[in-house]
Amino acid sequence: MIMVFLGAPGSGKGTQARYLYEKFGFEHISTGNLLRKEIELETGLGLSIRKIMEGGRCVDDDIVFQLIEIILSTRQGEHILFDGFPRNINQAKKFDALLAKYNRVIDTVIDFQIIFSKLMERLTGRYICTRCMSVYHKLFNPTNVEGICDKCGHDKFMVREDDKPRVVKKRLEVYEEQHQSLREYYLDRLKLYDLDADLDVAIVHRNLLVLLQKHMNR
Ligand code: AMP
Repeated sequence: MIMVFLGAPGSGKGTQARYLYEKFGFEHISTGNLLRKEIELETGLGLSIRKIMEGGRCVDDDIVFQLIEIILSTRQGEHILFDGFPRNINQAKKFDALLAKYNRVIDTVIDFQIIFSKLMERLTGRYICTRCMSVYHKLFNPTNVEGICDKCGHDKFMVREDDKPRVVKKRLEVYEEQHQSLREYYLDRLKLYDLDADLDVAIVHRNLLVLLQKHMNR
């Protein structure tokens, strides 16, 4: 099964993706994470995209598709969940064509709906363990013991460069510009389900499972 999560940065896609991995084994492919890894490893690709990402703008489609093709060619038949991809209508069309090459289609698209004013608060409070990459939040999901990662016990954290306020604002503008056309593209293909992402994480999760169940019984 191929699933796509649409939703603004900070709308909780990553958290729900983790639950679906634990429950059903969906591999979570976040193009943001793949791109950040390239930057971390200081690959040629990483060096060329660092400035773009730090400015909150979109990376070139060709670069993103190089990474996506590697995923599709090595995970045939597996459950995959794409998060943050496709990002625009061009990517959505090219993605359908690429999936066809691997005899696959998108099964369902979930659109995480959230009130925009809440996003600045959510996004600028995020911090990440530098060892195991677990994600925390100052307000909503702090570590049990301050300064110590719950998962691996490490005591060093980072804030993503693109979670800084100036960049967050730009990312949200870019998202808004492209989201409506993307939404219509999948609505026309009867693949889109809306999910209220403003609710408590556990309720969002329960509602997501209901949506998936509904989709499977169609
Ligand atoms: P995210 O973690 O999904 O919020 O993505 C962080 C940043 O990675 C974005 O602001 C873009 O610069 C870049 N990015 C992630 N996914 C894509 C994509 N599908 N197309 C272009 N750029 C992307």
